Amino acid sequence: MRCIFSGKVASGGEVARLAIALSRIFSPSIAYPVNSGRCAINIALLSFSRKKPERKDVIVPAYVCPSVVDIVRESGFNPVSCEVGIDLNLSLAALSTALTVNTLAVIAPHMYGCPARIDEIEKLCRTSGIFLIDDAAQVIGIVHHGKMLGTFGDIGILSFAQSKSVVTGIGGSGGALLINNSDFDEEIRLDCNRLSPPPHRLAMFSYFLWNCIWGSHTGNSGYYFTRIREALGLKSSQIRINARISNLDAGIAIAQIERLETMQRTRIDKIESYYRAAMKFNNLHFPQYAPGRYLARIMLELPMPVDIEALRSMLKRRGINTRPGYLVQAVDHGHANERCLLEVPSGKEIGDIEAFDICAIISGALDALHCPSSIGP
Ligand SMILES: *Cc1c(COP(=O)(O)O)cnc(C)c1O
Repeated sequence: MRCIFSGKVASGGEVARLAIALSRIFSPSIAYPVNSGRCAINIALLSFSRKKPERKDVIVPAYVCPSVVDIVRESGFNPVSCEVGIDLNLSLAALSTALTVNTLAVIAPHMYGCPARIDEIEKLCRTSGIFLIDDAAQVIGIVHHGKMLGTFGDIGILSFAQSKSVVTGIGGSGGALLINNSDFDEEIRLDCNRLSPPPHRLAMFSYFLWNCIWGSHTGNSGYYFTRIREALGLKSSQIRINARISNLDAGIAIAQIERLETMQRTRIDKIESYYRAAMKFNNLHFPQYAPGRYLARIMLELPMPVDIEALRSMLKRRGINTRPGYLVQAVDHGHANERCLLEVPSGKEIGDIEAFDICAIISGALDALHCPSSIGP
């Protein structure tokens, strides 16, 4: 509210405050706030390419947010899909055979906050002379083997978009570059200083509040809001440009970062509730669970084959809103392992009883759809 009423939406002092807050969390890495994770990946890949211009391949996991694959391509590189393990993160064995003399970099995300084997991936990349992006878009403030996720490899990236750990809005609402290898300090500081403040953030923020935060009250009126957005001329291409983070989004990010630990603790309780519940049903599996582990989203794995849309509409009729996982990208050799993941609700209302009821309803719906009665071997 302070940013809005003082008229400091696009730029202002919050941006520098955010840079300081992030640099403190990720010390000794230096943080540069930008307007999206995609912007951070783009800047990182271009600076890698200046050092090894003949290399064009960038390895991405077979299971990843499609915008990662898109930005690799839009930056002028070839995305190369690499198999993932049970935990939905890069498989170390598959990665070591995927590296070639054309590999510029590896992008290693921590899917839904579940830590990848990033220290081993870092070692592998370093000995092979390949750059590494520690993609912590979905997870902020989690330590893995004594080091903060995001600080492994050459450059780390963060995102503050919807369904990440820190959420400031949608459509370019924020992110950051973390410089972990000081060889990149100078040029990335210059790249980031050259970025201009982002346009249209107040309109995007209202759009976010209306459709995402107040969605249960505003219902379908979001449709009309989309029309208004179009009338204002806010095309997604304008929202996707590389820019600094706005003062407004930076202020929101700071407020959330201040209560990150509380947010993480309440989420871990819900994760434990779902784990205890899912264990009671043979046709539900929680592949990313580990005791005390934080996850940005709770993804249950379902037996294949399953008609996921039929299942989701059955659940919706019972008042349970779910989201499907990503599709697995084709892996060059062999076949990508077909898997089906479903995100379950993890809002304020979820406790032991609610998690059990939701699991029981999903399990029963799978039976009604004649799905296999247990997850394969
Ligand atoms: C969301 C996401 C990104 C991109 O972040 P944006 O801010 O949406 O551009 C990159 N990597 C991963 C793993 C993500 O989940």
